[in-house]
Amino acid sequence: MCFLAFLSVLIFASDSICREFTRTPTVDGVKVDGEFVRKNNGGNADFGQGKNIPSSGSPGIGENSIRSLGSSEAALPLSKLSQGSLVLIDKNHKTVSVRKEDTVNLIDYTNSFYTINDYSMRLTEETAVSLGELMFGYSNSTGSNNLVVYDTANGIAANSASCPCPRYFSENNLGTCVDIAVKQGDDIAAFNTAGAERWIFDNCTNYGFILRYPDGKEDKTGEKYCPWHLRYVGKVHAKLMYDNNLCLEEYLVYLKNYSEENPLFCQADGSNYAVYSKECEGQETCVNVPINGNYDISGDNSEKFIITIKLN
Ligand SMILES: [Zn+2]
Repeated sequence: MCFLAFLSVLIFASDSICREFTRTPTVDGVKVDGEFVRKNNGGNADFGQGKNIPSSGSPGIGENSIRSLGSSEAALPLSKLSQGSLVLIDKNHKTVSVRKEDTVNLIDYTNSFYTINDYSMRLTEETAVSLGELMFGYSNSTGSNNLVVYDTANGIAANSASCPCPRYFSENNLGTCVDIAVKQGDDIAAFNTAGAERWIFDNCTNYGFILRYPDGKEDKTGEKYCPWHLRYVGKVHAKLMYDNNLCLEEYLVYLKNYSEENPLFCQADGSNYAVYSKECEGQETCVNVPINGNYDISGDNSEKFIITIKLN
């Protein structure tokens, strides 16, 4: 019996170590997707054949320009419009689901700083890792580990009869949403802004999460204020939304003002980023991205792509 217990600990430990080395590295919420370079050489169904653009001679934008990084053309298929961290789902935008193979089981990523309501919840790997960091931050700052991830898919949080998560135009199958509740003894109570949980409201953007349905934005989101429903969008976009007091709907409109020639520059977590949007051009949309692969592309589930580039 003892040996079996030891064996299972050993298997678990080696599995964790293995996962540590195989995890897709991320920097500040932007995918460090070195694969892109290989995609250029070998071709790829997602991005097509790349065409390198010389890194010199970048007029107009200055030292921090996107092209000065050395860029390459990527062809985005129409299907990409409904994929990524900024996909908008509401009454006017259709529900999309992340593929199961693009998610992980949260139990494999849970740390000791929070608990989960059941063992079948799934999230994208980036969301699961960031959630662990958020919960560590909460526990470290408040001395409490009383938060429960109640749901990631069905949109039903504890005692939520008066305010269930929006269900009919649900974004809960994106693999980037979590419903948080509070453990009180053997009971689970609804999460709100009272008590130590307030820390989550004040700090979740530093970990890449937003309150998806904020108070006072009902006319924009089309949904009631929902304090326990967080969505992961990455640190750059979470910070920009927070600093400008924009909900996701407003943020996507705001980004229409920024193009590759005139990107939005911002700082997050001590690094510089450029963000711009590009109108979808139909079956295939060409965008310029750095050869170093340090970028992320998301569709808005409607009409444009948002390109986020880490400059330094
Ligand atoms: Zn929810």
